[in-house]
Amino acid sequence: MRNYKTKAIIIKQFEVGEADRIISVFSRDFGLITLKARGVRKILAKLKGHLELLSCTQLEIHKSRSSLDTIIGAEAINPFKKIRQNLRSTSRLYLVLEFLNKILPEGESHPKIFDRLLYLLKSLDKNKNKERRIIVITYFCLQVLRELGYYPHFRECIKCQKDLKRGSNFFDFYGAGTVCRDCGERGAFISVSDQAIVFLRFLIENKNISLQKIKISPKVSFEAYALVERYLETTIDSELKSKKFVKLID
Ligand SMILES: [Zn+2]
Repeated sequence: MRNYKTKAIIIKQFEVGEADRIISVFSRDFGLITLKARGVRKILAKLKGHLELLSCTQLEIHKSRSSLDTIIGAEAINPFKKIRQNLRSTSRLYLVLEFLNKILPEGESHPKIFDRLLYLLKSLDKNKNKERRIIVITYFCLQVLRELGYYPHFRECIKCQKDLKRGSNFFDFYGAGTVCRDCGERGAFISVSDQAIVFLRFLIENKNISLQKIKISPKVSFEAYALVERYLETTIDSELKSKKFVKLID
C-alpha cells in the first residue's frame, strides 16, 4: 500500500451512491486512470473545488489493491474557469476528450499528449475567437493522431504515389490519405479543396508552430476540422457521441 502523486486533467466524473464520486483523469505520469473520491462529506467538500471538470490538478492518490485508487489530496494548478463558463465555443473540446478516452488504453502514459492537451486548454482559455479555437483544436487532433501512429497523409496520392495536381482531389478515410483525381471517384471518397489540403499538410507536418500567426479563411479551417473529426471517428471505428452536443449548442 503506497500513496503516489501526479498532475492530472479531470475529464469525466459522476456521483455514485450517497456521496462517492468516480473521477476519470488524464494524468501526466500514468495516462488515463479511473479514481474514486470517498464519500466522507467533509473530505469531499474540501477536494471538490479542486476536482472540477477540465481543471488541471495536482493529485495525491492512495493505491488500493482490491478496487479503484482513492484521491486523498487535490490542489488545482489551473481551473480553466473561462472554458467551463463558455460552453458555446468550447463544445468541441468534449469531443476531443471523448476521443482520447476511447483511443488511449487505461494506464498507458502519454506525457507528450498530456502536455499538448494542457497547451490546448490554455489556448482555449485565452482565445475568445471561434475560428481561432477551431484551428487550435484541429492542430491538437492532428498532432495526437501523429503521436499515436494514425498519421493522415496530405502530400501525394496514396493510390498511385504521384504528386497531387491542383483541383478535384479526394480524401480516403480508411486509406488515411489524399487520392488524386485519376484514382478517386466521387461517391467513394470525399472531395477536399486545395486550400484545405495545404492547410492540413502544414498542421500535420510541423510539430511546433505558432498558431497565432496563421491566416486562413474560416471556410477552409472548418472544412479541415470536419475532415479531421470524421477521421477521428474512423480511427476509433465509432461515432463520437459529443457530436450531437456540439451541434445542439454550436
Ligand atoms: Zn492517384
